[in-house]
Amino acid sequence: MTFAASLAAAAKESGIELTNAQLEAFTVYNDLLVAWNEKVNLTAITAPHEVAVKHVIDSLSCYDEQVFPDDAAVIDVGTGAGFPGLPLKIYRPGIRITLLDSLNKRLNFLREIVERLGLAGVEIVHGRAEEAGRQKTHRERYMVATSRAVARLNVLAELCLPFVSMGGHFVALKGAQYRDELDEAGVAITALGGRIADVRTVRLPGLDDSRAVVYIQKISATPGAYPRRPGLPEKKPL
Ligand code: SAM
Repeated sequence: MTFAASLAAAAKESGIELTNAQLEAFTVYNDLLVAWNEKVNLTAITAPHEVAVKHVIDSLSCYDEQVFPDDAAVIDVGTGAGFPGLPLKIYRPGIRITLLDSLNKRLNFLREIVERLGLAGVEIVHGRAEEAGRQKTHRERYMVATSRAVARLNVLAELCLPFVSMGGHFVALKGAQYRDELDEAGVAITALGGRIADVRTVRLPGLDDSRAVVYIQKISATPGAYPRRPGLPEKKPL
């Protein structure tokens, strides 16, 4: 099956509506991802069906129109090859997305795909979350911060909540360990000004692994001491 056919089938099974133009955009994304992956390590997932399900549909599984209003400013922390930020932008073009990563090689891929797709309202930022989260231009400037496969939830809360404006959400896409991570992250989430608003389990087409999307709402300002200096959130989680 082609990538587009796999994606169309998986989207249908997940109740996600994709236009032909979106299917074409995701096909360009897949082709460029696989081509670039030959020279830059972007992903271990390259089979068309797997890219469709484990990258695109998984990324879109966190979308909720209440959480992501149409013109929302969203930051994807540790975006890598663009997941989940870029699929969200293709799916809901009104979103203004900032793609943040500390590895510039991956950002070069993102620069090319954004240009190829002619996407407006995408900012690509090279840097560490611990530093960007202290800068005035980024701190508490986003309605949503997303993150997938970057760190455990207690670490991630310190990397992501500083970006979120009051009332907005930090949305974490998590794998099978999500319950343990939730237990472990309670103290950090409260200390950083968040509260767990929702935890939704996700089932991807053809897979029976367990995963969940955790929605953490910002209910008070993140204290100025956070995020701590680069590496410390990971080394000494709250
Ligand atoms: N989110 C993507 C995904 O789900 O496919 C990429 C996941 S990859 C395993 C983790 C990414 O997070 C890497 O590209 C890495 O450079 C980035 N990263 C890790 N720690 C970071 C930090 N403190 N600040 C910014 N980026 C970070």
